Amino acid sequence: MDLFAPLPTDDEILAAALDEIQVEDRANEFTRRYQLREEQLRQHRLNLLSKRDAGICESCDATEGVKLRPARTAYHWEGDENSDDNPNRDWMGCETCDQLDEEYWDEMWSEYNSGRL
Ligand SMILES: [Zn+2]
Repeated sequence: MDLFAPLPTDDEILAAALDEIQVEDRANEFTRRYQLREEQLRQHRLNLLSKRDAGICESCDATEGVKLRPARTAYHWEGDENSDDNPNRDWMGCETCDQLDEEYWDEMWSEYNSGRL
């Protein structure tokens, strides 16, 4: 410690204190957003599960021609196949959304299989 260094002025002390508060605020804000995101994901999942139980299309909320559709994904999953968390689980969908899903994944898989992904 430099005994001859000038003592910090009131303004400098105040600025340092404000810096500390800002760092703390940012940390709190980060935690808050993270928790919010977790909550949104939880709600989203609950929403999808309740749609599935109610026979409502998970994608567009249609109620006509809705049934369980096989997933076309192949995400890595080592858990129970029937778990709600399984990313490759069957999904509740209408004819139109199933068609769109098929087109989307056909294209993705053909890109994947041709080595372009
Ligand atoms: Zn739909």
